[in-house]
Amino acid sequence: MKILILGAGVVGVTSAWYLALAGHEVVVIDRQPGAGFETSFANGGQISVSHAEPWANPSAPGKILSWLGHIDAPLLFRPRLSLRQWAWGLRFLYECLPARTRDNTLQILNLALYSRAELHQLRDATNIRYDHLERGILHLHSDPDELETARARVELMRASGFDMHLKTAQQCIEIEPALAVSRVRIVGGTYSPSDECGDAHMFSRRLEGLCQQGGVDFMFQSTIMRLLSERGRITGVSIRHVEGNEQTIHGDAYLVCLGSFAPDMLAPLGIRIPVYPVKGYSLTIPTQGYEGTPQVCLTDESAKLAISPLGLRLRVAGTAELAGYDAEVDTGRCRAILDRVEQLFPDAGNFSRAAPWGGLRPTTPGNVPIIGRTRIANLFLNTGHGTLGWTLACGSGHAIADIIAGRKPEVEFGFR
Ligand SMILES: Cc1cc2nc3c(=O)[nH]c(=O)nc-3n(C[C@H](O)[C@H](O)[C@H](O)COP(=O)(O)OP(=O)(O)OC[C@H]3O[C@@H](n4cnc5c(N)ncnc54)[C@H](O)[C@@H]3O)c2cc1C
Repeated sequence: MKILILGAGVVGVTSAWYLALAGHEVVVIDRQPGAGFETSFANGGQISVSHAEPWANPSAPGKILSWLGHIDAPLLFRPRLSLRQWAWGLRFLYECLPARTRDNTLQILNLALYSRAELHQLRDATNIRYDHLERGILHLHSDPDELETARARVELMRASGFDMHLKTAQQCIEIEPALAVSRVRIVGGTYSPSDECGDAHMFSRRLEGLCQQGGVDFMFQSTIMRLLSERGRITGVSIRHVEGNEQTIHGDAYLVCLGSFAPDMLAPLGIRIPVYPVKGYSLTIPTQGYEGTPQVCLTDESAKLAISPLGLRLRVAGTAELAGYDAEVDTGRCRAILDRVEQLFPDAGNFSRAAPWGGLRPTTPGNVPIIGRTRIANLFLNTGHGTLGWTLACGSGHAIADIIAGRKPEVEFGFR
């Protein structure tokens, strides 16, 4: 079968890998000059099964209210005159109900565990390298109440077969000695030893190369204008090349991996999906020659920051803004992130040379991605991975390849 993949983020390129392995002719189309240049470019880098609990949980509404008006709030709602934004917000509130949170957490946990196992297999089979670190993720708490809430999360995760432990403040320092000079008072933490981190962009580019060796064709700098349909089937994709000329490409099946831009591509076909862009920022700090750089991936749970050592860089990522499709970097919010890291790890790296970045997470209200069929027989979706697209990419890519082949995926998940 000839399969056209729309979008070469980490989700598109992993889908291409598994579809090519299954013997299909695969063409990937993207407006960027290579794979992983939009949201997969400078994310937090964490392969974090331990973050299966979505933002939409019972404590979220109260926290969001208390953060209103705070420019340095981890989650910021910037109201727009947009029905989509408000509908998404209401659905988010519904997903905060305890039963919904539990169901969403378990779905994400299943897919994340499967995805991590798939990533390991891919790594073993190809020897792909992407500045990855396999020392677990340490989740730090500076608020005693939040640490208490984390206890329940640890119990749910452990009951579901995931290795996660509560740690005292002293034990946190033993896991990450750079915390000994921290100016933030840590009250304790949780540790997930099997989690890891790595550079999603480097991974995407290198997997793109491996896909090419395996016969996958990439059409970069090609903007997808629309999907063409006739008698209930997709018949082609209309694209515009960077030089301005337009072309229609045909395939047997079409897979949409357009991240936050999937809803607009699907709406003219009458397919509506609850994916909304949630903006986040990262800073990449050079660390060569610095003694106080952390050697373990961390999450600062109180400030909601992911902190990942990636080779000779420290990546710090976080914040969430519901502000439409504006991906511009807010220097004030980036400064607040940098200040917090400087307090945690005063000698971590050259803070004055930190490179800022902003990206749009393609987020569903419950953070559960949309993977599977549509009512159009030859149109498939792999999108809406929200805060965990890097963590879930390999599992989602393998699963959609199974679905397109008419096979049942090996993981229990609510596929379409
Ligand atoms: C600040 C931040 C921190 C994060 N941290 C983590 C983390 O630690 N761990 C984790 O697992 N996840 C993390 N994420 C989430 C993760 O980065 C995303 O879920 C993931 O990158 C989504 O991948 P994707 O392939 O679906 O989307 P994208 O990477 O955005 O890919 C979509 C592709 O579609 C292309 N495209 C869109 N429209 C068109 C068009 N019309 N024509 C042609 N091409 C088009 C784009 O160019 C792009 O390449 C983070 C995200 C952010 C913003």
